Amino acid sequence: MAGQKKRETRIRRFDPYEFASQADSAFFERSNIQSTYFLLNAISDGVIAVSSDFQVIYSNQASRNLLGFSQREMQGRSLASLLVDRKAWLVIESNLRRREILATDQNRIRHADGTEIAVIITAIPILENGSFDGAVVVFRDVLPGVIGSLNLMDRERLLQGMFDMLPTGALLLNQGARILRINEMARAFLGLPEGELRGKALQPENWRASNQKGERVSFEDSPISRAFEVPEYETQQELTFDTRPQSVLVNARTLNSHLPGIHSGLVLVTFTTVEPHGPQAGDMDTAAELSQEINSLLTDLLTERGAAGTIRTALAGVRRLTRSDLAALGILDRTSGLVEFSYFEGEDAAELESFRRPLADLAPDRPSGSAESMPTGLPDARFLQLGFRRSIAAPVFSEGEQVGLLYLLRRSQEEFVENEVEEMRMLVPVLSAAISKASYEARLNELATTDALTGLWNRRVFFERLELEMERSRRYKMNLSVLMLDLDHFKNVNDRYGHLAGDEMLVEVARVMELKTRRSDLVARTGGEEFMVLLPEAELSGALRTAEKLRAGVEGLSINVDGQTVRTTVSIGAAAYQSGETQKEFYARLDALLYKSKSEGRNRVSHELLDEGASSPSRY
Ligand code: GH3
Ligand code: MG
Ligand code: MG
Repeated sequence: MAGQKKRETRIRRFDPYEFASQADSAFFERSNIQSTYFLLNAISDGVIAVSSDFQVIYSNQASRNLLGFSQREMQGRSLASLLVDRKAWLVIESNLRRREILATDQNRIRHADGTEIAVIITAIPILENGSFDGAVVVFRDVLPGVIGSLNLMDRERLLQGMFDMLPTGALLLNQGARILRINEMARAFLGLPEGELRGKALQPENWRASNQKGERVSFEDSPISRAFEVPEYETQQELTFDTRPQSVLVNARTLNSHLPGIHSGLVLVTFTTVEPHGPQAGDMDTAAELSQEINSLLTDLLTERGAAGTIRTALAGVRRLTRSDLAALGILDRTSGLVEFSYFEGEDAAELESFRRPLADLAPDRPSGSAESMPTGLPDARFLQLGFRRSIAAPVFSEGEQVGLLYLLRRSQEEFVENEVEEMRMLVPVLSAAISKASYEARLNELATTDALTGLWNRRVFFERLELEMERSRRYKMNLSVLMLDLDHFKNVNDRYGHLAGDEMLVEVARVMELKTRRSDLVARTGGEEFMVLLPEAELSGALRTAEKLRAGVEGLSINVDGQTVRTTVSIGAAAYQSGETQKEFYARLDALLYKSKSEGRNRVSHELLDEGASSPSRY
């Protein structure tokens, strides 16, 4: 699976555990101290090193984010003071003194602001001539994926925003049924007191519910308890809580990380009221659907699934619930006032290219949340063209500002009725959260050095290194070659097999690229399905050999999606740097060569040397 590969790629690059276990007390004084620090700062686990008297002598960026201290504040702090439980500290200390590695499953550290954070702690002793001389301690946040890699403040804001916006009760529990996150509605159903509940365990006496026959349902028999017992589980039960005389669908599911077989140990519970808008036939079904949609969306939001995937799932959900033929999401650029439609789900979704419209032409700018803010009527011309006859739009807000516009379309003349408008409103908050997640993700990507999907270096790193190597090449008259790669007709892979399959293919292509290049080459994912390889000290003929290996490697690749074999090919432009050329000029030359490969039939390598003009489907 894509996730598994991704993890392998990362570990091959840098494994803090392996690194720490090989470290000795002199490792901070080594000559490669800069690159060590660089690597430690690039990873999302918090890593600190402590001296033999357990005082912090090193902290990486993630550990400082997690704990809320500056580098200076971390320095000299005692390990014991970072841990919440005295007992945990004693266990860690005695293990380290016995020179044993310790991995604790669930522990808590204290943030500078006093809040507690659940982490998995690994403590590895540093030995000097066989005796204890300090330790490397790794804190891994229990929240998976994108959210786990945000800094604490961003995560707080994003998570709380998501939970507060939800139209249902939502509760996130970790092992031991401790509350990681809860919103007001869930608190009310469970009759929990107001105030800080995070970190507290949900007690059996907090669970006071009966089933539809009026029989008591104990906590042991509740969906929550069962979700903790079964590793991959989802269930839904209709219950009534003592706190409210109302039917509630309780949906509990385990929140699995994307890695097969690895469980985060988290359970997500949602509470959806049945009959949200008065007694009507079919409300039960609608509530059940809604409950399921929200639960699976929240799961998406909380896990490593990319924001784009989450937005697509959300759109598909809204479309189903409102019986629309097409759901579209536009992202608002506040400076220009233009809405760019780039996400489509449903009929003809594949036909639609992204397009822009002034917000004012699409929907009047009115406050959020009101049904009036959703004009129904004739669709935008682009949609009319495709035969859609009815539309309805809703603004999407995030943190108080409009960030987008949701657009639902029907082919028939049938108007959207109030009930459907309501359901659409219920899911708008989830879309808001998905958009927030997308913007957080974009920010994270800017900060990161590696690409989250493939583990390859990212665009920023590539161009920084390129500039450096160009300078070296000019100064020392050294060869330097670059390959520019773009997968062929990749949109088709997504359209036919879905985005997840596309992502998996990207991960596989990245692996081929790492395998077929040298350690001294820099392989980067510079765009969606675009890659670049920097080959220092390589002349063009050498670069072409690598290019051909990559081309053939990608051609020979296949992945399996639901029993079907999916393949792809790649077009490549290859060029050697010419002294004096600017980065822009060099890039333009590569781009032109790549274009040449595309226009001459794809799945080939183009270059300027050897036979001018002829881009041979290079045989080397
Ligand atoms: P061409 O041979 O001309 O390059 O055709 P193409 O379909 O690859 O066209 P183009 O390069 O313009 O489009 C890139 C497509 O790659 C668009 C999008 O569907 C897909 N894509 C880009 N980034 C990602 C990604 O992160 N994941 C997935 N699954 N698909 C992506
Ligand atoms: Mg492309
Ligand atoms: Mg392409």
